[in-house]
Parts: sequence; C-alpha cells; structure tokens
Amino acid sequence: MNIRIGIAGIAGRMGRLLADEVVAAGAQLAGGIDRPGVAASVATLLPDITALAQVADVVVDFTHASTTQRHAEALAAAGVAWVLGTTGLSAQDEASVQQAAQRIAVVQAPNFSPGVNLVLALAGRMAAALPADAYDAEIIEMHHRQKVDAPSGTALGLGHAVARGRGVALETVRDSGRDGHTGARRAGAIGFAALRGGQVVGEHTLLFAAADEQIALTHRAFDRRVFASGAIRAALWVAGRPSGHYSMMDVLGMT
Ligand code: NAD
Repeated sequence: MNIRIGIAGIAGRMGRLLADEVVAAGAQLAGGIDRPGVAASVATLLPDITALAQVADVVVDFTHASTTQRHAEALAAAGVAWVLGTTGLSAQDEASVQQAAQRIAVVQAPNFSPGVNLVLALAGRMAAALPADAYDAEIIEMHHRQKVDAPSGTALGLGHAVARGRGVALETVRDSGRDGHTGARRAGAIGFAALRGGQVVGEHTLLFAAADEQIALTHRAFDRRVFASGAIRAALWVAGRPSGHYSMMDVLGMT
C-alpha cells in the first residue's frame, strides 16, 4: 500500500526535512499546510487541516502548540492518523490529543530520535533503582536560540520517566527555573535547567547526583534529520492501526 502522508508545518525547519524523508521512504507526499501567506516549494499547499485530512492517510504535525486543539478535532472527525511532534502543549491541548486518540491512532513523542527513546527507557529504570532521597535528579538541556518553549518537550519527557520510575507525579516534584534565594534543594525534587543559544539541535543530560557518586546520561542530536526520519518511520507504522495513543517506544518495539 502506498501510504499518503500529509505534513502540517511543511515550510518549517522540521517540515522541509519531513518532506524529504517521505520521498526517501518511498511513501507518497500528499501535500502540506502552513500559516497563511507562508510559501512552500516542496509540495502542494492546502488551505487548512481539513483539506489536508481529505488527501492523507496520516498527518505528520510539527507546527505550534496553538494548532493542537484544532488539529485534534479535524483529524478525529476525518478518521486520519496523526503523528504529533509539536511541543509546548498546555494541559488542555494534551487533553484534546487524548480525546482524539479515542477515535484515531495517534503517535505522540516529544522526540522521535531512537537514541533519546532509549535514554528515556533507561531513565525510568535508573530512577526506580536509585533512592530519590540519596540521588538528586537534574535535567539539563540546550537548544538553538529560536526555540520558543522551555524546558524542552524531551526534558519534560525525561522528567516524567524519572517520576514514573519513582512512583510519583512529575507535577508534585518538578523544580524549574531556579533564581534568587530558593532555599535548599527539596528531597526528591526533579530539577530542570534550560540553556538557549546558537544553532544547537538538541542536547539533554540527565544527572543523578549523590554524595559519593554521580551518573550522567547524555544525548546529543547533531542533525534534526534524526527526528524527521523517526517521525516518518512512525507514520508508516501507524497507518491502518486501531485508534489509541502510541509513543515512539511503541514504534520501536520497546514497550
Ligand atoms: P519552525 O518554526 O521552523 O516550523 C513550524 C512551522 O509550523 C512553520 O513553518 C510555521 O509557519 C508553521 N505553523 C505555525 N502555526 C501554524 C498553523 N496555525 N497552521 C499551519 N502551520 C503553522 O519550528 P520547527 O523547529 O520545525 O519545530 C516545530 C515544532 O516541532 C516545535 O514545537 C518543536 O519544538 C517541535 N519539534 C519536535 C521534535 C520531535 O522530535 N518531537 C523535533 C524537533 C522539533
């Protein structure tokens, strides 16, 4: 079956690479959408998400969080599978993704690189093995100067993996953006630090710092093509699957 893939955000940094990867994978590039007035030379530009859903079996979406609720409703109504890479989603946006996943197959990942997903799996196992009161978990990330959300979706994904490994909810232990007289570190907190600069594609380090030893897991992406090829792999995997909320770990067979 020649799977028809549509791209939301086709003129963006990720969108252009996704278009290349669709062709490289031997699938059909059904078309794309972007903001009104934005030109894209790589594929047929359609007026909106509803029009894109009419010509695609799967929509791969790397846009902006402000589109999420609209895209969730349109794709669920059209019965078209959704690969969602956009980050910086609000709780309401996330709820709309969960609602859509009751009607369509959705693969959502803050990071589509195979290496990061392996790190995510290790993070949970390490957190379960290392006592939270002795091993302080800190997550440090760096990205290019254009990135609009912080901490990155991947950093939050690492935080959730550590929290799950410890049997707590991230929201109850999250410590982001320390500044000024913060007081001593809370036992069991999961700390975040976000650096922005230059054209760094994506770097993440998860630290477990104890009094007598320290463990660091670092992932560096050198080329954002690693996310694009992962997302298209997810698109080929999800086409024709039953409705549900899937992760990149499902795509990689790591669950
Ligand atoms: P970008 O700004 O270069 O591209 C985003 C594109 O979406 C732009 O062309 C923009 O015009 C378009 N867009 C914005 N609003 C739109 C709308 N309402 N309708 C249609 N198109 C719209 O950004 P980018 O670096 O390509 O990243 C896009 C998103 O993907 C971000 O949220 C980023 O954090 C995320 N991202 C995720 C991964 C991952 O592996 N999950 C990897 C890289 C980036």
